Parts: sequence; structure tokens; C-alpha cells
Amino acid sequence: MATTAMPRTAARGGSFLIESCRPEDVFTPADLSDDQRLIGQTAEEFVMKEVVPLANDLEQHKAGLMPSLLKKAGELGLLGGGVPEEYGGSGLDKISATLLAEKIAVYASFAVSHGGNSGIGTLPIVYFGTEEQKRKYLPKLATGELLAAYCLSEPQAGSDSLNALTRAVLSPDGKHWVLNGQKMWITNGGFADVFIVFAKVDGEKFSCFIVERSYPGFSVGGEEKKLGIKGSSTVPIFFENCRVPKENLLHEIGRGHIVAFNILNVGRFNLGAYCLGGAKRVLAVAAKYAKERTAFGKPLGQFGLIREKLAEMAIRTYAIESMIYRSAGMIDLAMSAAGSAADKTQQLMKVLEEYAVESSISKIYGSEVLDYAVDEAVQIYGGYGYHEEYPVARAYRDSRINRIFEGTNEINRLLIIQMLMKRAMSGALALIPAATKLADEVLAGPQFEEASQGPLAEEERAVTNAKKVFLLSAGAAVQKYREQLADQQEIVGALSNQVMEAYAMESSLRRAQKAVAGRGEAASAALVDAARAFIYDAADRVEKEARKALAAVAEGDMLRTQLAVLKRFSKREPVDTIALRRRVAAAVETGDRYPFEGR
Ligand SMILES: Cc1cc2nc3c(=O)[nH]c(=O)nc-3n(C[C@H](O)[C@H](O)[C@H](O)COP(=O)(O)OP(=O)(O)OC[C@H]3O[C@@H](n4cnc5c(N)ncnc54)[C@H](O)[C@@H]3O)c2cc1C
Repeated sequence: MATTAMPRTAARGGSFLIESCRPEDVFTPADLSDDQRLIGQTAEEFVMKEVVPLANDLEQHKAGLMPSLLKKAGELGLLGGGVPEEYGGSGLDKISATLLAEKIAVYASFAVSHGGNSGIGTLPIVYFGTEEQKRKYLPKLATGELLAAYCLSEPQAGSDSLNALTRAVLSPDGKHWVLNGQKMWITNGGFADVFIVFAKVDGEKFSCFIVERSYPGFSVGGEEKKLGIKGSSTVPIFFENCRVPKENLLHEIGRGHIVAFNILNVGRFNLGAYCLGGAKRVLAVAAKYAKERTAFGKPLGQFGLIREKLAEMAIRTYAIESMIYRSAGMIDLAMSAAGSAADKTQQLMKVLEEYAVESSISKIYGSEVLDYAVDEAVQIYGGYGYHEEYPVARAYRDSRINRIFEGTNEINRLLIIQMLMKRAMSGALALIPAATKLADEVLAGPQFEEASQGPLAEEERAVTNAKKVFLLSAGAAVQKYREQLADQQEIVGALSNQVMEAYAMESSLRRAQKAVAGRGEAASAALVDAARAFIYDAADRVEKEARKALAAVAEGDMLRTQLAVLKRFSKREPVDTIALRRRVAAAVETGDRYPFEGR
């Protein structure tokens, strides 16, 4: 297992909303160890050399090509990161696994196939398998000798996955489960050997099974014709009296939802990392093109509106990168704090559940940053952006799926608030005392505030205030709707957006502060510019979302009072974000790539 310099204390999941951490407590890409960097480098080199040159063949579904590339990746140890060493994997720490996912994402179809196999296809056995199941499957899944798929969705049950119709009944001789039903949109289904399948025992008890391709009654439909990730396999799967050995029940009867949701939790976190890799790649491609293509006698990259796009792509990528590595660092720290626990995988699952809010943020924010980046890349390419021969058209199409699978972004937005409320009610997260304290502060009226001092002091204040704004609007919404808040989805969405922005703002700020402390202001100038531009605009977004929520919750004098409080917490000094972005664009231009790699 790779080692790394870690901050000292692991924050509780979601606690970023009510606590302030120190820069040195936040893991950043600058803290990656040499071992971790090597893992990232191996993954990137493999995809660049072995996969990208074959992208056109992969997009045509050349028979056997994707599985053979996955197997090659397996031989290099790129599939077994989630598998413990005793079962033939490399048992990577979360930070290394995150870097691996990020670097593999150069070609989206490969990333999706990798995730379908090594993430959601393999991890259910790692976390929930019996000793026999682990010994039978994991060593072969870790090396790519066997490839895996995860079968949860059905034609009528995607987001609403517990509404599955696939049934399992025990055969009269008690030796087999007999499965009947259909799964839909199964990644890797065209070639996988092992399938994690969810079905209801006796049509009622949602459960999970390990199904092999060779089992009688198992069949696979034709490849779906998709908008993007055309190099990946997506098929329906049919079970017609499919006979599954009794011992292939995974976990317990009626506890399939525990398997499904815990695994999706991991999948969501990783999806953010894949999106981060995709965003960096498309920024590099667009930056290079902006230098090469001329219009009106000069390179596109010299036009302010193009520079602004390149800068914003880098800034949002910086924000998502700061969040994802911070979260990965917290997960590893929490794991090492539980170092003596007898069952490491059970412990890891608990830790991943602890950071479920951060995982949903990774998924939503990552997929939306990538969507933004590919869209602007097409714009920078102009008419050629619309041609399939140029790389950005594919990136544009490939990006779109990320907002849909692993729980749609709507479902994840709802989950963020649902999970926070649950943690608040159980006392795991002190949101209620924090809201009460804020109410006291509001009642006490505006206090004399000393002018902010030093670099990033204004940004520090903006982060603190963003959290207060969330508590203000969430408190008002909970007070009005109480247990019925979940029915007010637009309000929940507005609250969720504030949560995400607060995490993005603080993660961006802490990374910039840590960079300044480590390397000095001059060497960190562009990174600080990116953080400042991001925080300034994010604070606007927080204010807007809070105003939307408050206006739906209160009216008359009460609303006016709350909006006055909102104004107080949203007050800030103007910042010349155009100048900041010009400097970030210059940093992009220097290397024709994302300028904060490993920093
Ligand atoms: C290329 C591809 C690969 C996939 N790979 C896999 C795989 O390997 N394994 C697997 O099991 N599945 C896979 N899926 C399925 C994927 O997870 C589902 O498509 C996804 O969960 C959404 O379900 P749905 O398509 O039924 O959409 P629906 O659930 O019908 O949703 C449609 C829209 O309604 C919204 N919506 C639904 N419910 C609510 C609600 N309660 N509140 C607010 N809005 C709501 C959604 O957010 C969405 O915008 C894949 C899908 C695709 C396209």
C-alpha cells in the first residue's frame, strides 16, 4: 500500500458545513507521494499508448478489443486497486485509487468500462462476499482473467431501482436460485464473465447474486446505439429460469439494497475522479488548438473571450480537483485511524458511508464541470468542433452520460440534503446547534467587523459566510416544512447547490492557502488567482440559491428580514475577476494544459 504525508485529524462527513479546517489538514495534489504519482503515471501511459490509438476501432465495437485491453490493464495491476492484497489485488489507498481513476479517464469509454469492472462490478464481492466467494472470484477479477458487470437497472426501474421486477426463487431441491427478469443498460454486459445481479427473492425481498455468463438461462441482448461512450458495451440482460448456485447469494436475503447503495457510493466518488481526468484532457486539447488556429490574423488564444473560457475551464477543474483530493485524504485518514479494526473492508465501507455527502458532491460537481468544459471546448474549436474527426465532438458526447448514471444528478441532489438531515437528527452532525448559534448571531445584529487582513482574507470571510447562508436558508426551510421538506424538491435542490458550493469554495481556498504556505505567494500566484475567481463567483451562486429558497419559504416582513440577513452575509469587496482570469489563462497557455497539476 502506498504511503503518504497525511493531515492529522479526519473531519466527520458533512462537517465542513459547520466547522473550519486548517490548510494543513487538507490533502491536496501537492501532497501526493512518489508511489502515488507513479500509479497515476502508469495508468496514463497505458491509456495513451495502448488505448487511445485504438479509439476508432473501439467505437466500432471491434470484437474482443475492449476486453483484451481491460485484461492488459489487469496484467499491469490497473484493475486490482480495490481488491485487498490477500486476494491478489493491490489494496490501494483511496488517494491512489482516485489518481488512477483520474488518469485512466483520458478516453471516456475505457474509463466507463474500467469503472464497471473494477468498481461497481468487483467491489460488491470485496465488501460483501463470503470467504469462499472472495477466494473464487477476486484473484481473477484483480488480474482481468475475469471481467465484471453490475446489473441493477431495469427497463422500468432506473432511479427507482428498488422497484425491480426480476425475481429469484429457490429451486425445489434447494440447490439453485432460479432467476427470471430483465436488466437494462448493463455496462460491460457484452463481454463480462461475472455479473452482480439484483433480484427480489419470492418477488419481495431485494437481494443480490453473483451470476456467471455460462449459467443456463442467462442471455445478453444486442449493443445499445448510444449518444456517447460508444466504445463501451451497454446491453440488456435476460434471465429465463436462470439457475444460479445457492452459494452465489451475495450478502443476505432482503439486504440487497445495502449492497446496491454502498457500492453506488463508491462509484459516485470515483465518477468525479474520472470526470476530473476528462476535464483536464479536454482543456489541454482546447488550449493547444487555441494556439494553433488563427482568426483575424492572430491565434484564437489571444482573444479575451477565448482566454476567459480557457481560464474558467481551468478554474472549475481546480475546484473539483481540490474537493476530490480533499475527500480522498479524509477517507484515507479515517481508515488509518481505524487501523486496528479486524475487518478492513467492513471498516472501509463504514468510512465511505461517513463521506456519502462528499461522494455525491464529487459525482454531481465533477459531471457538471466536465459538461461545462467539453461544451466550451467545442465552442473554441468552432465549426471543427462539430466534426467527428476532431477530438472534442466525441468528448462532448461522452460527457453527457455522467449526469445520468450512478444516480442521476437530481437524485444525488436530493440525497445530499436527505443524508445531512438524517445525520443532523441522529446527532452525528451538529447542524441544529450551528443553526441555533447563527440565529443568536443574527438576533444580536451586525457587529463591528475588523477589515480583513492579508492574502485570501476576503475569501476566508466569503467561505465562512457561505456556510452561514446555507444554515440560514436550510433552517428556514426545515422550520417551515419539517418532515415534508423532501416534497419541496426545488427548495432541496437550492439547498444542495449551496452545500456543494460551500465545499468547493473551502476546498479551493485551503489548497491555495496551503500552496502559499508551502511555496510562497509568487510561486502560487496563478493558483491563488484561480481560487479567488472561483470563490467570488461561487459566493454569487450561493446568494442566488439562498434567495430562491428563502422566497419560497417566507413572505412579507419575515421574508424581508431574512433577505436583509442574507445581504449582510453576502456583502463583499468587489474583485476584478477579469484580471484574475487573464492571469489563469496565461498559466494555461504556458504549458497548453491544466496549470495546477500536482500542485
Ligand atoms: C450508458 C449507460 C450505462 C449504464 N450502466 C449501468 C450499469 O452498468 N448498471 C446499471 O445497473 N445501470 C446502468 N445504467 C442505468 C442508469 O443507472 C440509469 O439510466 C439511471 O439510474 C437513471 O434511471 P432511468 O434511466 O430509469 O431514468 P429515470 O429514473 O426514469 O429518470 C428520468 C429523469 O427523471 C428524474 N427523476 C427520477 N426520479 C426522480 C425523483 N424522485 N425526483 C426528481 N427527479 C427524478 C431523473 O433524475 C431523470 O432526470 C446505465 C445507463 C446508461 C445510459
